[in-house]
Amino acid sequence: MNIMLTKMIEQEKVDQFSLELTRACRIVIVGHVSPDGDAIGASLGLAHVLRKKGKTVHVIVPNAFPDFLKWMSCSKDILLYNRYHDFSDKLFAEADMICCIDFNALNRITFMADAVRNAKAKKVMIDHHLDTEPFCDISMSYPKACSTSEIVFRLISQLGYYDDINQDSAECLYTGMMTDTGGFTYNSNNPEIYFIISQLLYKGIDKDEIYRNVFHTYSESRIRLMGHILSNMIYYKESHAAMIALTKEEQNSFNYLKGDSEGFVNIPLSINNTRLSCFLREDTESPIVKVSLRSVGTFPCNKMAAEFFNGGGHLNASGGELHCSIEEAKKVFEQALEKYKTILIKENV
Ligand code: 5GP
Ligand code: MN
Repeated sequence: MNIMLTKMIEQEKVDQFSLELTRACRIVIVGHVSPDGDAIGASLGLAHVLRKKGKTVHVIVPNAFPDFLKWMSCSKDILLYNRYHDFSDKLFAEADMICCIDFNALNRITFMADAVRNAKAKKVMIDHHLDTEPFCDISMSYPKACSTSEIVFRLISQLGYYDDINQDSAECLYTGMMTDTGGFTYNSNNPEIYFIISQLLYKGIDKDEIYRNVFHTYSESRIRLMGHILSNMIYYKESHAAMIALTKEEQNSFNYLKGDSEGFVNIPLSINNTRLSCFLREDTESPIVKVSLRSVGTFPCNKMAAEFFNGGGHLNASGGELHCSIEEAKKVFEQALEKYKTILIKENV
């Protein structure tokens, strides 16, 4: 199979990875905290291929991932570090290789950071975020990629293992690409993405079914929660920005489950001329407010996230967190808006 893709990953890194792979028997694949579709999809997509190559592979993530990803093959075998701490530590200590998927800084795996940092295994980063932290032996980090799943596909292809991608693996990789681009509605203009999709279709994936499995699995309470949040949205007409918020109290009254507010931040962007959307959520696990930002066009929400919300991310999708009440967090967002207002007004999208 002749893969018609430009070589995003430098051949030197592919060769280095290939060499380390021949030496490795036990491989641990790690995804970031509160794993999303890309973290899970890229991890499992890679795991399927490496297992086909005869490797012993475990996937470990810090904490739970959303139910709408649980149809993926072998998702039930993913180890949650907060539940299987000792067994995971043993796997990290015994691993020959650790693949860090969809994150480029150790703080993105929070309480797992020490176990990964201290492991003697060769560490490989496969990621698409900016500002890579140099904690890996091989870093394959390409912010131009739509998703880490896209990079995993490219890596597998460049290794010459395209034939080892089976339907299960293809479904996982497609899911990662689809979720990180909002169903190919943003960050998805590279024509090669559609070449990759066509290759995944040849592997037998049903992309329409995958879409339904991921995006059309709302519970009744989730739809009602969405309606509630949207009816309380604050819209900043002059700044072309919107803010929605979810308190702990509201989470309780709508039987909120982890992942129920996934994607909510994108909804205000469908209001005509909206350039920035902010979602504030009181975290149920610790006394913080989780912040999600989304923008359209060239507005850098990662800069806003870094400057005001102790976070970062991509140009159009970023996040962070604040240690304060949700009311105070709203004020912080309004301060951020004040500072970036001129850019938002000038922005031509
Ligand atoms: P989400 O809004 O879906 O939680 O996050 C969107 C993106 O923002 C993530 O893919 C990640 O790049 C970035 N992000 C989210 N939360 C944080 C955070 O606390 N710190 C940093 N540095 N980036 C974050
Ligand atoms: Mn990603």
